[in-house]
Amino acid sequence: MTELRSLSPDALASLTRELEARFAAFEARGLKLDMTRGKPSSEQLDLANGMLALPGAGDLIASDGSDTRNYGGLDGLPEMKAIFAEMLEVPSEQVIVGGNSSLTMMHDAVVRALVHGVPDGSGPWAKQPKVKFLCPSPGYDRHFAICEHHGIEMITVDLRDDGPDMDQVEKLVAEDAAIKGMWSVPKYSNPTGTTYSPEVVRRLAAMKTAAPDFRLFWDNAYAVHDLYAEGDKLANIVPACQSAGHPNRPFVFASTSKISFAGAGVAAMASSPANVADAKKHLGIQTIGPDKVNQLRHVRFYKDYKGLLSHMQRHAELMRPKFEAVTTTFERELGGKGIASWTSPRGGYFVSLDTLDGCAKEVVRLANKAGVKLTGAGATYPYGRDPRDRNIRVAPSMPPLDQIRVAMDVVAVCVQLASVRKLAG
Ligand code: PMP
Repeated sequence: MTELRSLSPDALASLTRELEARFAAFEARGLKLDMTRGKPSSEQLDLANGMLALPGAGDLIASDGSDTRNYGGLDGLPEMKAIFAEMLEVPSEQVIVGGNSSLTMMHDAVVRALVHGVPDGSGPWAKQPKVKFLCPSPGYDRHFAICEHHGIEMITVDLRDDGPDMDQVEKLVAEDAAIKGMWSVPKYSNPTGTTYSPEVVRRLAAMKTAAPDFRLFWDNAYAVHDLYAEGDKLANIVPACQSAGHPNRPFVFASTSKISFAGAGVAAMASSPANVADAKKHLGIQTIGPDKVNQLRHVRFYKDYKGLLSHMQRHAELMRPKFEAVTTTFERELGGKGIASWTSPRGGYFVSLDTLDGCAKEVVRLANKAGVKLTGAGATYPYGRDPRDRNIRVAPSMPPLDQIRVAMDVVAVCVQLASVRKLAG
């Protein structure tokens, strides 16, 4: 395959005409395809429908004797805590089970720190002249939205194949005491599918920070979302921080949003005993207790962590062909042309596509014109600004396979069209 930048002006012009014809043919089809958000498909949601009949009116008592219909149980049912404890590899006393959304728990952890401060800190973060967070990017737009909403300044650091660029991270946190936090999606990251290497996890746990109350917001949203039997292994941040002398550094989050039902799942947070005690103190003001009926429903359906893992294999069977359709199309249409690179994740919910610099917005615009909605270019960077305008997040979970194939054909043509126009200057 010839790199497009080595084509003669005539060859480039004729390729442009060919791509314009392909684009026009797609446009004429009046497609309406949506590849924007990482939602589970209805087939995936169907896998958990058995849960809807549970726990049933007959047995609503949890293992600790509590009636799940009533108030109480601030940090969750023991059997639900046990499942998250295994998933997150922490003692169950260090787990707080929340409501339906881990994003809510992350948001609230940030706000609590802003308003009240954190254990071993020096008071409310919001009383400092400036609060900054490191944002490995491309990353999750809703993390960045929490910072933007609450006036936390975001500093972009590069996300590489093995996690954030640790030389950058270590230098920044050592020099600037205003850097209080860092976002991380450490396994099958949104959107690149990267899993942090053991060495990156070790360095994050051990690094010296100018802020004594620095926190890692460790969003392990895709902890069990493997596409293949052999999943990526993520080193455990909680004991790593503990043995490095920074036990209170990690706030770990997860949920069953993409295991059971997105929007009607169960979320959890895990951390050091001191952080957990502090969070519970505040939570007790916020609520009398979470939805324990939903927790019981989940526990009765999955039985235990092993049951949950075998459920995830059924998700993988639905997801794998969709991810492979994306990467196969990119390989066929874009491979060897020197105009794009993309990830081939082994889990999670996204494929990340990098175009030539300055082409991402144009690709999204063209795809939209041809009836394929993509996540807005820039969304994967703080403030919605991709400095190189090259990253596009592709979310293959929701549409049916045949639609994904068509949508990716369209995207691949748009990438080529934007590239040849760029190269022609
Ligand atoms: N974290 C990440 C990295 C995600 O991709 C998502 C869903 N797109 C969430 C959190 C949302 O989780 P929840 O439904 O538990 O709020």
